[in-house]
Amino acid sequence: MKLLEFLKTPLENLKGIRPEYIRKLKKAGIVTVGDLLYLTPRTYEDRKKLKKMKDLKDGEKAVFIGRVVDVNIIKTPKGKEVFEVTFSDGTGEIKAKWFHYNKRGFLERFKPNSEFIIVGKVTKNLFEGSLEVIHPETRSLRSVDVEDVLKLIPIYPSVMELESKTIESIIDKILSRIENLNEDYLPSWLLRELKLPLLNEAFIIVHRGLDDIEKLKESRSRGHIRLIFDEFFLPQVAINYTKKLIKGRKGIAFNTNSKLAEEFLKNLPFELTNAQKRVIEEIKRDMASPKMMNRLLQGDVGSGKTVVAIYSALIAVENGYQVAFMAPTEILAEQHFYNIREYTKGLKLRIALLTSSTSKNEREIIQRSLKHGAINIIIGTHSLIQERVEFKRLGLVIIDEQHRFGVVQRKMLREKGENPDLLVMTATPIPRTLALTVYGDLDISTIDELPAGRKPITTRVITEKDRIKAYSFIESQLRKGRQAYIVYPIIEESEKLDLPAVTEAYPEIQKFFKDFNVGMLHGRMSWNEKERVMNKFKSGEIQLLVCTPVIEVGIDVPNATVMLVEGAERFGLSQLHQLRGRVGRGPYKSYCLLVIPGDRLSGNSYLRLKILEETMDGFKIAEEDLNIRGPGEFFGTRQSGISELKVADIFRDRDLLELAREMATKLIEMDPYLRKEEHIYIKKTLEERKLLETVHYLDSG
Ligand code: ADP
Ligand code: MG
Repeated sequence: MKLLEFLKTPLENLKGIRPEYIRKLKKAGIVTVGDLLYLTPRTYEDRKKLKKMKDLKDGEKAVFIGRVVDVNIIKTPKGKEVFEVTFSDGTGEIKAKWFHYNKRGFLERFKPNSEFIIVGKVTKNLFEGSLEVIHPETRSLRSVDVEDVLKLIPIYPSVMELESKTIESIIDKILSRIENLNEDYLPSWLLRELKLPLLNEAFIIVHRGLDDIEKLKESRSRGHIRLIFDEFFLPQVAINYTKKLIKGRKGIAFNTNSKLAEEFLKNLPFELTNAQKRVIEEIKRDMASPKMMNRLLQGDVGSGKTVVAIYSALIAVENGYQVAFMAPTEILAEQHFYNIREYTKGLKLRIALLTSSTSKNEREIIQRSLKHGAINIIIGTHSLIQERVEFKRLGLVIIDEQHRFGVVQRKMLREKGENPDLLVMTATPIPRTLALTVYGDLDISTIDELPAGRKPITTRVITEKDRIKAYSFIESQLRKGRQAYIVYPIIEESEKLDLPAVTEAYPEIQKFFKDFNVGMLHGRMSWNEKERVMNKFKSGEIQLLVCTPVIEVGIDVPNATVMLVEGAERFGLSQLHQLRGRVGRGPYKSYCLLVIPGDRLSGNSYLRLKILEETMDGFKIAEEDLNIRGPGEFFGTRQSGISELKVADIFRDRDLLELAREMATKLIEMDPYLRKEEHIYIKKTLEERKLLETVHYLDSG
C-alpha cells in the first residue's frame, strides 16, 4: 500500500527539506513522513474574509486589499528608520510599518499604485490615534490570486523553535505527494458506513483547513474525525480480536453450587452488600460456562473484593481445582494469606504462601505439594510465575491490583493450567469508557457500594507550618488508645537514592512521640524486618508507624484512625485515596491529614488535593486524577497504546471511542481472524504497530 509505505519514509529521504529542519524535527521525535502528518495544527487562523478598511478594528487580525498611496522612511527619536507605507482601498486608509527591512527591495516592491493583499494585526497608534499594521504579510496582487490567500491557515505547535510557517511549508510539500494516493487500509464498507474520508484526504483536510473553522478548531472536521477514529479503532480491533480468541477457547465448566462457598458465607460476621451479591452472580455465571472467564472486578478500597474473590476460589476448590492468587507486593500477599486463612477457618483447606522470602526448604515443599495437588490455594507474589512452580490442576487465577501487572504476567500464570478462569481485581476504579480501552479484553464487574456503616474519613489538607499541630492531634488519638500512620513519599530523584525520606525523619518523630512506641517500615528493609514491624503494629505494640507507601494496599488494622501524609503533592489522587483507605476500617472516627509545602493553603497542589476533602468516591477521584495527569501518567505504563494517542483525546473524544468500539466489534464478528482480502491491511497494520503482541501467545497457546 503506497500511502502506508510513504508514511514510513524517513524525512531525510525526501528532497527539498533543509537538513537543519530535519535535524530539529528529529530531535522532537518526528522522524518519518507519518510522524509529521500526525503533527496536527494546534489551531487555525481564519483568513477567509476580506475586510474593507473602514471596518477594521483595533486588535483584530485581518486580511484586506490596499493600493499604495504613499511611501515614507521615518526616523524615530532614537534615530531608527521605520519604513512606512500608506495603503488605501477607497473606503479608508491604513499605515503599514516595518522596523526591519531591506530598503532597496522595499522601495522596489511598494511602488505607488501597486496593489497588495495584506494580512496582519491591526492596532491603534497611541500618538496618532489612527489604525496601523506592524510587519504585516503582503502579497502583490500581480503574483497571487486573492483566493489563494483567502483561506484557513494552520497554526502548528512550536517544534524545537521551528516556526509554524516553516512546518506548514514542509507539510505542504508532503501533502502534494499524497494527493493521489487514494488507497486505504480501512475497508470501504466501513468508510462508507461512517462517511469517513480516505486517509490521504483526512490529512489534507486537517492540514489545509478544508472544513468549517469551528469544526477544525474543535478537532471535529471530517479529517480530524477520521484520524481520531483510526487511533481508537486499531487498538479496539486488537482487543476484540484477542477477546474472540480467548472467548472461543474452551475453559472449565465449574459446578457453581458450592457447599464450601455457602458455608464460608454463613460464617461471615456480616451480610454481603447487594453489589457483592450481584458480582458474585456475574462471576458464577462465567465460571459455570464452558468458556474461559476473563473478568475484571473493580471496587473502591474496602468495598469487599477479597470476600468475593474467596467465594470464587472456593467454587474452584470444591470442583477439585487449585487456585493461584497473585498480589503485587509481599506485604499484600501475606495479608491476603492471613485473611484468607482466617476467613476459611474450619473449611479444611490447604493454603500456602509463596514469595521471594520463602525459605529454600519451604519453597521446595510447597512446589512439590502444588505439583501433587496437595495445596488448594496458593497465594504469592511474582514468585508464582517462576518456571518451577507447577500445578496439578490449576483452575482459577486471581490477580490483585491489576495495573501493576502486565498482560504478560497474567498470561504466564495462566499458562500453568489448562485454560483456567481469570479474575483480576483492582481498587483503582476508572471511568467506564477508559476501562474498556485499558482492560478491553476483560469483562467488567463493579462493586459500587461500600458495606453499611462505613464512616467517611475526615480529610484535611494542611501546610508544613501546621505540622506540629497535626502531631499533637495524632498524639491525642494515640492517648485514646488508637494507632496512626505517618507516610512519606519515596523521593526517587534524591541523591541518597537508597535512603527514603522516612529514615531521616524517623528520629525526630520518635523524639516528639517519646511516650509511644514508634516503628518504621519502608521498602528497603528486609522481609523479616518488615514482617516483625507489621506484626507489632497489628498487635498494637507499635502505636505509630512511620512508613513509605508500602502500606498502600491491603494492610488492615482497624484500630488505626489517623494517617498523616507528608509531601502529599507528590502523590496521585487515586493513590492518596488508596492510602487513606488504611484508616477508617474499625468502629472509630478516622482522619487523614495531607501535608503540602509552604505556609498557605493555595496554589495548584492545594486545589488538586481539595477533592479528597470533598469526596470519598473513588470513581470521582480517579476521574479527576485522570483529567489532571492524563492517562499516560495515571497508569504509569504504556497500556494498550493509550498514552500514545497523537490526535485523539480520551476525554474529549469519548463519542468516537465508543464508535470505534462498536465498529471493531462488528468487524471481528464479520471476520474473526481478519482473513478477508479487504481486511488484510488492518491486520498488517496491527502487527506492525505491535498491537497484536498480546495475541500471539493466544494464537500459539
Ligand atoms: P477490598 O479488598 O475491596 O479493599 P476487603 O475485601 O479487604 O476490601 O474488605 C474490607 C473490609 O471490609 C474487610 O475487613 C472485610 O472483612 C470487610 N467487609 C467486606 N464485605 C463486607 C460487608 N458486606 N459488610 C461488612 N464488612 C465487610
Ligand atoms: Mg484489597
